[in-house]
Amino acid sequence: MKGYVSKPLPKSCDLCGRTFDPTTAGFYDARLDGRWGDYCRECFSRHYGRLGVGFGQLYQLDKSCGLYVQTAGGSTTSNKPKPSIFDLEDL
Ligand SMILES: [Zn+2]
Repeated sequence: MKGYVSKPLPKSCDLCGRTFDPTTAGFYDARLDGRWGDYCRECFSRHYGRLGVGFGQLYQLDKSCGLYVQTAGGSTTSNKPKPSIFDLEDL
């Protein structure tokens, strides 16, 4: 998905250590207890994670490419995404 932040599934949750299943629907790249990491949904809610720039982002599986695409919490999810360097060819 062009213009969107995406990344592969992390190995495991940085807090509880649970291994992410390849079919995991999503994970959080967030700051919990002052530490940034990749967290499962349970840890994110148990530690009152917040979504937003500087707090946390939600990544969800895009089945078409197998990557996890940022769907919430980041600046790229606003209604009018800022053009990134990857979009310049379209200008
Ligand atoms: Zn966890």
